[in-house]
Amino acid sequence: MFWNEELETIEENKLRNLQLKLLRDTIGRVYFNVPFYRDRFQQINLKPDDINFVQDINRLPFTTREDILNNYPTGLLAVPRDEMVRVHTSSGTTGKPKAIFFTKNDIDKAADLIARCLVMTGMRKNDVLQNMMTYGLFTGALVMHYGAEKVGVLIVPSGPGNTERQIMLMKDFHTTALHITPSYALYLADYIKTKGIEPAKDLYIKRAYLGAEPYSEETRKKIEEMLSIDVFNSYGLSEMNGPGVAFECEYKKGMHIWEDNFIVEIIDPDTGEVLQDGQKGEMVLTTLQREGMPLIRYRTRDITTIIPERCPCGRTHRRIDRIFGRSDDMFIVKGVNIFPQQIENVLMATKGVAQNYQIVLESLDNMIVKVEIAKDLFDGNVMHLVNLQNKIVESLKKEILVKPKVELLEPGALPFSEGKAKRVIDNRTL
Ligand code: AMP
Ligand code: ZN
Repeated sequence: MFWNEELETIEENKLRNLQLKLLRDTIGRVYFNVPFYRDRFQQINLKPDDINFVQDINRLPFTTREDILNNYPTGLLAVPRDEMVRVHTSSGTTGKPKAIFFTKNDIDKAADLIARCLVMTGMRKNDVLQNMMTYGLFTGALVMHYGAEKVGVLIVPSGPGNTERQIMLMKDFHTTALHITPSYALYLADYIKTKGIEPAKDLYIKRAYLGAEPYSEETRKKIEEMLSIDVFNSYGLSEMNGPGVAFECEYKKGMHIWEDNFIVEIIDPDTGEVLQDGQKGEMVLTTLQREGMPLIRYRTRDITTIIPERCPCGRTHRRIDRIFGRSDDMFIVKGVNIFPQQIENVLMATKGVAQNYQIVLESLDNMIVKVEIAKDLFDGNVMHLVNLQNKIVESLKKEILVKPKVELLEPGALPFSEGKAKRVIDNRTL
């Protein structure tokens, strides 16, 4: 079922024409209303009328996170401040955050994209969504909330944490869907298991939407099995509304990115060169329908590919692959480039490994992988532990080409987060 069948299945050439029209409109608006963009365009002698094809976008300069920070808080607004009805900020920063402003129309459009996403995964009016993302400045909970309200589902706005209470709410309100970070979902699934609750029998959950941080296919499988549900990948970032930018359909093979709202490009992060569909690189996004704060060629730092094939679900909007990592998450050990995702893949595929792990970087040559393992492996038989440890070291070596130290820990030994997890601890002094 579709939320907006006409737009979701729009013919490819019509979609490109629509993109061009919206792109020209956006460029015109920022050129005349945002001095930052006018200066940038004038520097390269570019006028809005010079954009005649969607591909012409590659003549435009990139917008970076530093540009947003340097224009904090209101420097990138394209309509007067009074038209703004909400401000959100990006998470995880210690200094000034990136501030993103929304007009009433922007909020409505963001909610509409969420409605498409939810209906695409089978959500209907009679569903109950427990929204376990943080409510507040973070876009995750509120943007999802408004979209779910559009679909007409009952929302349980629980926010994260207090797991015992979450389970009570799930039981009492017959929650059928969760919106949650992958790290909290792993914790929740384990908590449910240790309490002797059988999800398929004692709960009503059918699906969960996981996003806000990178996670591996193995983690998805693990959560699906532990909770007997379907897990759908949900991608977004505050700079582009928050959740609802790209979302998996029933086929769970990549996330449809709503191309009537965003132009997606994949670039080589070092050279800025635009790559072909299917090639891995940094995703660059341009808003097409934003009123309040349009962004042109925003460098997300998220690494993925565009999946060129058509999806059997009938939607024509192309899909992006699971986010492989952020270009700034990558670290180097013994001269080898490593993403935390690669380590998570190996750990979550290994029998005996529990839910939580941490990567500690000690020096340029030395990394420790700390991993919690199942309680019953601490049964007094040291050989069980040694065998598992060796197995993890060998599998990691195959995946990342260097041999890390591996420490096995009891469940609960590592710090755990209800929001975005901090997986890498960097103790290197450079
Ligand atoms: P924020 O702006 O605080 O919402 O953070 C957005 C960032 O979270 C994105 O740029 C991604 O790095 C990450 N993120 C969000 N959703 C996902 C997802 N489904 N998979 C991987 N990373 C994600
Ligand atoms: Zn599809």
